[in-house]
Amino acid sequence: MKLHEYQAKDIFGKSGIPVPNGQVVTAVDQATKATQIINGPPWVVKAQVHAGGRGKGGGVKVVHYPYEVVTATESLLGKHLVTPQTGPEGVTVNQVLIEEGIEINSEYYLSMIVDRLTACPTMIFSQAGGTEIEEVAIKSSELILKEHIDPAVGWMMHNARNLLYSQEPPPPVGALTALMSVMANVYKIFMTLDCTLVEINPLALTKDRKVFALDAKINIDDNALFRQKELLLLDDPREKDPLELMAEKYHLNYIRLDGNIGAMVNGAGLAMATMDVIKMAGAEPANFLDVGGGATEDMITKGVEIILKDRRVKAILVNIFGGILRCDVLARGVVAAAKKTRIRVPLIVRLEGTNVKEGREILRNSELKFLVARDLGEAADLVSKQVAQ
Ligand code: ADP
Ligand code: MG
Repeated sequence: MKLHEYQAKDIFGKSGIPVPNGQVVTAVDQATKATQIINGPPWVVKAQVHAGGRGKGGGVKVVHYPYEVVTATESLLGKHLVTPQTGPEGVTVNQVLIEEGIEINSEYYLSMIVDRLTACPTMIFSQAGGTEIEEVAIKSSELILKEHIDPAVGWMMHNARNLLYSQEPPPPVGALTALMSVMANVYKIFMTLDCTLVEINPLALTKDRKVFALDAKINIDDNALFRQKELLLLDDPREKDPLELMAEKYHLNYIRLDGNIGAMVNGAGLAMATMDVIKMAGAEPANFLDVGGGATEDMITKGVEIILKDRRVKAILVNIFGGILRCDVLARGVVAAAKKTRIRVPLIVRLEGTNVKEGREILRNSELKFLVARDLGEAADLVSKQVAQ
């Protein structure tokens, strides 16, 4: 689950990480009032969406007069914002953060993730922060420093020193204590809120050696939300893909991807393998959909419906290994979906396992046209034929 910048900054502020004063607004008429409460000029008007790269996409505006705060808010609210991270379709801006403009002397990058290789919480720090950090990571990776943390020991002062003194010149002496405090607090937030990401880019240093988190990103591990009930209140479903939201409602593990071959599979491992098969056939998967072991006929029907709602889908591959989910249940679900929604694309079905005979029988007797594949190889062939057409 992702948080908005203003929500993450609220958490930062309460945890002792300095943030600029700001106010979130949802209507243009709230903007004037915000300028009276918040220090300025300059003010910074920022689109609140679950995507970065806003600076490059026109979603962050620095302004110098109160009336400009109003016009900037107006130009963002309700508008479609396209940034390097949203994809060409963009996202709708429902909220805008108006905050005090900070005079930046230098911009640092600071984040915390779980490093897959070492399986450790890892802090990443760079003195080359700001909107170009992706380019820095590619072209000058030596400027990006990493520090693995042993969770049994926790955050230690030497972790901060390793990051701050590993590069010449280190940040100015007057700023070191403040930077160390931010680092320790980022670690604390990461661990106590079950985060998968805490990111501050930029972490700004002013001329008088004060630090401020000018941007804030916090992602929470969905599997930990059962013990982070307060954070659940911060969820903003408007930011989610509508098909993923629908899938969530029916307890389907669905992730939308960019390709054009829809896939419905039981089990995450088989779903990954099926995505590989689709790629090997020269196509790209349109989604990841694991209906799980306990899927009911109704869930299968909903799964097919969700795949079909994605207009890019040119063919659907159903790849089921019947175990707890029996092949006949699957077949009935697919047939029900086909009757309910007109299936406008070829449906390739590969069934194996429990009650496979009954499953194939149901498909055969349905008078609907399915391309039945006996094994994965044949399924791949059928997919490539569909792509070639
Ligand atoms: P994004 O990462 O989505 O591009 P940021 O919040 O990082 O959005 O804003 C982009 C840039 O705008 C920052 O790198 C910073 O230079 C500037 N900026 C953002 N907030 C402020 C602020 N409150 N005061 C001064 N500059 C800011
Ligand atoms: Mg940023």
